[in-house]
Amino acid sequence: MAQRFSAAIRLFKIAALAAEVCRLPEETNRFDALILGGGAAGLMCAVEAGKRGRRVAVLEHADRLGKKILISGGGRCNFTNLHCQPDNFLSSNPHFAKSALARYTPADFIALVEKHRIPYHEKTLGQLFCDRSAQDILTMLEEECRASRVAIFLSTKIQEVTHGAEFVVHATGSEFHAPVLVVATGGLSIPKIGATSFSYDLARQFGVRIRDPWPGLVPLVLEGNDRSRYCDLAGVSAEVVASCDGQRFREKMLITHRGLSGPAILQISTYWKKPQPLRIDLAPEKDVTAIFRDPRSQRDLPTLRAELRKTLPQRLADRWLERHQPASYTNADLAEFERQTHAWTVVPAGTEGFDKAEVTAGGVDTDELSAKTMECRKIPGLFFIGEVVDVTGHLGGFNFQWAWASGAAVGRAL
Ligand SMILES: Cc1cc2nc3c(=O)[nH]c(=O)nc-3n(C[C@H](O)[C@H](O)[C@H](O)COP(=O)(O)OP(=O)(O)OC[C@H]3O[C@@H](n4cnc5c(N)ncnc54)[C@H](O)[C@@H]3O)c2cc1C
Repeated sequence: MAQRFSAAIRLFKIAALAAEVCRLPEETNRFDALILGGGAAGLMCAVEAGKRGRRVAVLEHADRLGKKILISGGGRCNFTNLHCQPDNFLSSNPHFAKSALARYTPADFIALVEKHRIPYHEKTLGQLFCDRSAQDILTMLEEECRASRVAIFLSTKIQEVTHGAEFVVHATGSEFHAPVLVVATGGLSIPKIGATSFSYDLARQFGVRIRDPWPGLVPLVLEGNDRSRYCDLAGVSAEVVASCDGQRFREKMLITHRGLSGPAILQISTYWKKPQPLRIDLAPEKDVTAIFRDPRSQRDLPTLRAELRKTLPQRLADRWLERHQPASYTNADLAEFERQTHAWTVVPAGTEGFDKAEVTAGGVDTDELSAKTMECRKIPGLFFIGEVVDVTGHLGGFNFQWAWASGAAVGRAL
């Protein structure tokens, strides 16, 4: 009897819930522009368009805005770089980013940061970080959105986008209409914090060409032999020059449990494609065998080890010597040791993939977009901005600068 009673109550509850869902009105929201994605690029676009009096809505699938901003720069957000130049970006068209970057510069973003009295500092190489936390940057953008009367819709699951006389975004329980659609839903990096293939799927839906995306600014995995030779040194780091594909970066390299990371490796990873070799100069601008030109020096292993330890951390110096000890201490063999130390050739087995990549390289082909406004040539009213576009910055605040600049380019064009 009690069992039948509770089953009846359960049925009643389900029926009541169904009635409530059915009663929900199918909202229709009409705006001047819909911005899909409330990350760095989407928010900047919304602020700039809102300032110009446009009625703008940001549709974000997560339950809060700017999750990537919050985890960026180790929680302090490296929000721009003082030395930002087009050369700091990789794209199949190296000229594409120039116009947007010239019209919204690091100085423009710094002025915004200073208007909001956010304390910041230059860490190294022109990289600007918040003194306190990345939350300052997100709060600033949220305040700017509020001042520009931007409508923000969180936890909005987009089901379909259609395009007739205008764009219609069908989301759970709501429908949004506008003559302009800005896609700012980012790339594939870090799915765990909300990255999806949405931008690329939408581009394909509209026949917009995509250059195959790949993980950038990502640690590299060493193949079996190199891994067993070096990865027990995980945590050891050294200043190196890492190069491949005509690019070179002089920064720190870090040995990890599975391979190599650190700024030099993250930077070169964006340019690396399997099965290219990577070249690592372990002693940039140093002559580690110079001492042997002094006739008084001992030509032996202890002398060479002592010299190498002046350049590399002790454990790495010793390991390098175990693997590359000169056959003898003749001038020719020492010259060969010197050569190898400046040209460690590594063929990585792969990268740590999108789970660990700071950015997604490739993306919407720049030939499809106007460099001035980011509008699709084929489909007026459709715009792509931020990481989804085939413009990828180096490590050091450049990816945010691209997000701000491409977002502002659209916001100011609406
Ligand atoms: C760990 C980490 C640290 C980083 N640190 C720095 C740094 O210090 N400096 C720097 O310059 N760059 C940094 N980056 C890179 C930088 O965060 C990105 O390049 C930048 O955020 C790209 O901006 P975006 O607006 O294009 O994309 P995102 O910031 O990724 O924003 C995209 C938004 O769209 C939303 N979205 C996705 N799919 C959907 C969907 N289907 N429907 C609705 N919304 C959707 C996402 O939830 C997100 O809010 C870092 C990246 C990572 C992963």
